[in-house]
Amino acid sequence: MSTNNESKKKDSKPMFILCDPQDPRIESMTLEESSKNSHDIIRNKISFFQRPPPLTPEIISKMQMPYESFVENCFNLAVVAHLHFSGNAHGGDTSKTFKGEEHYHRLYLNMLEHRHDWFVFFEDDMNYAWPERIVGMLGTLATIHRNRHDNDLCEKILDLDECVLNRYLEMVQNPQIKNNATEKCASALHYKYCRIRMNLWCQSKPISELTFDYRKETKLVKCFRKLIEYESQYMPYDDEADYLYLVQGIFKFGDRIPDVPFLRALTDKQIGEIIQFFLALSRQTGPIEMSAVCDTQKRQCTLAVCAGCSKTEPFLKTFKVCSRCSKVKYCSKECQVNHWKIHKTACHKK
Ligand SMILES: [Zn+2]
Ligand SMILES: [Zn+2]
Repeated sequence: MSTNNESKKKDSKPMFILCDPQDPRIESMTLEESSKNSHDIIRNKISFFQRPPPLTPEIISKMQMPYESFVENCFNLAVVAHLHFSGNAHGGDTSKTFKGEEHYHRLYLNMLEHRHDWFVFFEDDMNYAWPERIVGMLGTLATIHRNRHDNDLCEKILDLDECVLNRYLEMVQNPQIKNNATEKCASALHYKYCRIRMNLWCQSKPISELTFDYRKETKLVKCFRKLIEYESQYMPYDDEADYLYLVQGIFKFGDRIPDVPFLRALTDKQIGEIIQFFLALSRQTGPIEMSAVCDTQKRQCTLAVCAGCSKTEPFLKTFKVCSRCSKVKYCSKECQVNHWKIHKTACHKK
């Protein structure tokens, strides 16, 4: 029996020291290793590879804290979170990215606390890669909480996500940045945001509530427009084009796919009727996205409980699994040792 070493860094802030890029120890380290974080070389590597963007003195002067402090206390949290996000699953929205919950959560709290400085940082359009990454990470964090049915926290995260997204969508309009790739990426992130917002809204409504007032819910109407336009543009024959298929069915398109001009011509009232239909449908089956994969998603986002003391882990994958049987998890080495006299009869090699 053995667990991986419980790391002691849980509550300590990462400290970054700008290093000598010639240091040979840095070059030999893989991204995987560096994302496991928390020793000096890795910190140095992060600083080396993710050097904070140079901002103009004019922008820097608007920050409440000195820029070096912003880099150390805020920006570097985004770097660490990003290493977990991209190191795990190429930034895609798969369960593997859920593992970084702890880091996305720290970033989220930091952005709430230093919101002003973060948005000053976003004033330089050339920094657009960071809001792009952050929108992805906050969206994933929101998804984790939605899957857990922690609707209130999910909504708060989405509200921040929306502000960062809106700024990012402005930045990529800059002619120096705008091209097919950034446009597609921006659209995909916008789509992802709308999808979480829509599903959260659906999930949060009491089961008996079946009315949708398109005049009051203008935000949802906008989200829905984005969802169907994106699906028509980028995923017309995709099984996951859930919302577009609704329109296709309701307007009796048969095998044809409703195109963007048709979708844009729909009135808010018509969109409202489609959402109404969607809501009724989701009352029978669960929100569309959830229906088939609901259980898997919920399981993927369930926090582990320590087999020794029954404490729940604060974030996904923070408790260590028994390396012999992989069946139980522990909050600490101590708990594992104390529990061994009970667990040893059930513990079998994989
Ligand atoms: Zn325990
Ligand atoms: Zn075991």
